[in-house]
Amino acid sequence: MERTLAIIKPDAVGRGLAGRIISRIETEGFDIRAMRMVRLSKTEAEGFYYVHRERPFFASLTEFMSSGPAIVIALEAPNAIRNWRDVMGATDPAKADEGTIRKQFGSSIEKNATHGSDAPETAAFELGYFFPGIDLV
Ligand code: GDP
Repeated sequence: MERTLAIIKPDAVGRGLAGRIISRIETEGFDIRAMRMVRLSKTEAEGFYYVHRERPFFASLTEFMSSGPAIVIALEAPNAIRNWRDVMGATDPAKADEGTIRKQFGSSIEKNATHGSDAPETAAFELGYFFPGIDLV
């Protein structure tokens, strides 16, 4: 079993898509181990995306991620990290495969509806950023 962090980003929450995305998570066979709505400050968004601090889109990304409520979710499944990224699709919704969440619900390379950890080390950091171990059921 493996755990990963999923986020329903502010664009998707704001458009009323959270229920459909959570339903998809369940349909795809992930177990939800923790879930919470957060309203990130700019500083909290910057801490979360620290690895991207040198990227040209860092300011815009952290502005967006702190622009409204988001839902953070701890997922568990065999190969959860790879599988959740496959269900989400490519970063840019225009390049994402048919049937993926980003293809269906993303509106730009930035406002792409969901987040997923990209490796075991980042999953550990990202899960710990939002959930103390005691909250994971
Ligand atoms: P991910 O692992 O697929 O989420 O992609 P990255 O780790 O490369 O980027 C993190 C997040 O930054 C993405 O999910 C997007 O929200 C945003 N992002 C990535 N590339 C760009 C870009 O070229 N421009 C802008 N504005 N945002 C981007």
